[in-house]
Amino acid sequence: MPARILDGKALAQVMQSEIAADVKALAERSGVRPGLAAVLVGDNPASQIYVRNKRKACEQAGMQSWLHEMPATATQQQLLDLVERLNQDPAVHGILVQLPLPRQIDERAIIEATSPAKDVDGFTPSNLGLLAAGYPRYLPCTPHGVQQILLRNQIPIEGAHVVIVGRSNIVGKPLALILMQKATGANATVTICHSRSRDIAAITRQGDIVVVAIGQARFLTADMIRPGAVVVDVGMNRLPDGKLCGDVDYEAVSQVASAITPVPGGVGPMTITMLLYNTLQAARESRRSLG
Ligand code: NDP
Repeated sequence: MPARILDGKALAQVMQSEIAADVKALAERSGVRPGLAAVLVGDNPASQIYVRNKRKACEQAGMQSWLHEMPATATQQQLLDLVERLNQDPAVHGILVQLPLPRQIDERAIIEATSPAKDVDGFTPSNLGLLAAGYPRYLPCTPHGVQQILLRNQIPIEGAHVVIVGRSNIVGKPLALILMQKATGANATVTICHSRSRDIAAITRQGDIVVVAIGQARFLTADMIRPGAVVVDVGMNRLPDGKLCGDVDYEAVSQVASAITPVPGGVGPMTITMLLYNTLQAARESRRSLG
């Protein structure tokens, strides 16, 4: 039987409506309107699309959104100065610096310069450290979106063996931390694979849930999962014909899995949704800190 499709696009619409209702309630109660400042450096076409979609979602949810564009030749100091201005601006609750950045700019320096209270991507060492310690502030958006897809589709996580392929700081590593937490919607047994792992297929075949986030088109094939496994495809790869394709061989794997996320329409829309969620949370926190 073909797998159940875990429809991230539909779930994103539901959650974005919930967030919009909360944004409205916050504005009515306290006069605070959540605001996200997006920073785009250079003219990477994919980054332009991501930023446009994120801003559109913000506006649809009733949030304020600002776009700061810098040329590809911008210096690290110019970007640091902008981030510092946004850190100080009380109307800005969340700061999003779209990655990747041009070569002359050290991404780590920019991430570390972002105020942790406004780090709605959840990338700063402070916020990743809080997550690792078990009392997170903002969960990074893509892994949080993966968790929500599992939870809201009633996929059991507690006690399940989750195999994650990919260990980046923005997807694989924080996803492992989220799902292994001693918390509701977590308590999984987690295994992480990466480019130096031996016999990845033997490991993914042990997974009740297999998440792939490596950026290699159709890497996970049907023989790499056990029948009935749940498969989450984070990958977004552009094929030579311009089509978008995940890290999973969708046609074949969906014949063996019990449930699967499509690409597009799976994890991608949930990443944007969790960015809105974090921006709302940041606005609430700023309100609380004002007393
Ligand atoms: P990175 O390039 O930062 O990390 C890739 C990870 O995959 C690394 O840990 C790397 O291992 C591992 N890896 C690469 N090749 C293999 C392989 N053949 N076997 C096993 N492991 C491998 O990528 P990201 O985490 O940023 O992104 C991963 C994918 O997810 C991309 O396609 C990206 O576009 C997509 N993405 C999608 C998002 C969404 O919203 N849907 C958001 C963010 C990313 P090692 O550490 O050893 O190098």
